[in-house]
Amino acid sequence: AKSAGGNRSELADPEADARAITRHGLTTALPTALERGEFFIEYQPLVHLGDGSVRGAEALVRWLHPQHGVLGPDRFIPLAEHTGLIVPLGRWVLEESIRQARAWRERHGEDAAAGPLRINVNLSPCQLSHPGLVQDTVDILERAGVAPDALCLEVTESALIGADDDLLKPLHRFAEMGVDIALDDFGTGYSNLANLRRLPVRILKLDRSFTRGMQQFPADPVDLKIVEGIVSLAHSLDLAVTVEGVETGAQAEQLRILGCDTAQGWYYARPGPPERLHDLALVDATG
Ligand code: C2E
Ligand code: CA
Ligand code: CA
Ligand code: CA
Repeated sequence: AKSAGGNRSELADPEADARAITRHGLTTALPTALERGEFFIEYQPLVHLGDGSVRGAEALVRWLHPQHGVLGPDRFIPLAEHTGLIVPLGRWVLEESIRQARAWRERHGEDAAAGPLRINVNLSPCQLSHPGLVQDTVDILERAGVAPDALCLEVTESALIGADDDLLKPLHRFAEMGVDIALDDFGTGYSNLANLRRLPVRILKLDRSFTRGMQQFPADPVDLKIVEGIVSLAHSLDLAVTVEGVETGAQAEQLRILGCDTAQGWYYARPGPPERLHDLALVDATG
């Protein structure tokens, strides 16, 4: 029942209801879409707030649908989770983005600022409960010649709420081999902060809803206090803090002052093709 959780809210959405036929069409088209190579990945840089350098990139999957054009993940990930296609699709995302990370790392050999060093990949809860996940990931890393510490897996807070040991086991195995785990959309669930201690998480990704109040200057004082509290708690637990949805320079500056470690958002770059990351890294190194 847990794995179908993401789908229920989709069905309760009246707008999604109106698109029921499209949804059915999309669901049946998913398996062939994977075979035909209709999915592609955009990368969004993760920027170090202290020095502005690009430290990594998050892989975000898209579907170039022959009739509907480019579809965002919110349109099809819930369907893929419901049908189980998320397992092969997620494996493809891992394979493709780790291959990309390898290409970036190779360029680093010749050029100190050729691209991001680390790759962040989103994991759905269905993938976590799939027994092949850890071995598949190990195989993919080995085939690509990429060290585990180049990979960060993002798991949403809601996926781990009340998670039993079976779901946490693969996370612990990843942590042991050097793959970092980030807690995605942090602050949107019913966080039990004490719960964090039993999770092998290294990074908190603070949800966009917390940074929205900082788009203007001066920032919303309540938002500032909340973020300040989360950052100090995270750091006291040895967790790094990444902030999502940074859209303005004012936001970036406030978040830097509050001690956040890395940031991601349109202010730096929208998600884009892998080549764009090369240019960004070069700009940052000279600036
Ligand atoms: P997420 O992991 O929270 O990813 C961040 C989302 O925020 C992305 O939406 C990104 O394009 C968007 N974003 C980034 N910067 C900004 C900003 O400054 N302002 C605003 N308003 N938005 C920003 P996207 O690409 O539509 O992805 C939506 C969600 O789909 C992701 O949320 C993630 O949960 C899921 N997703 C994406 N790729 C994958 C995947 O390969 N596997 C799985 N399981 N889920 C994925
Ligand atoms: Ca994410
Ligand atoms: Ca997120
Ligand atoms: Ca999100």
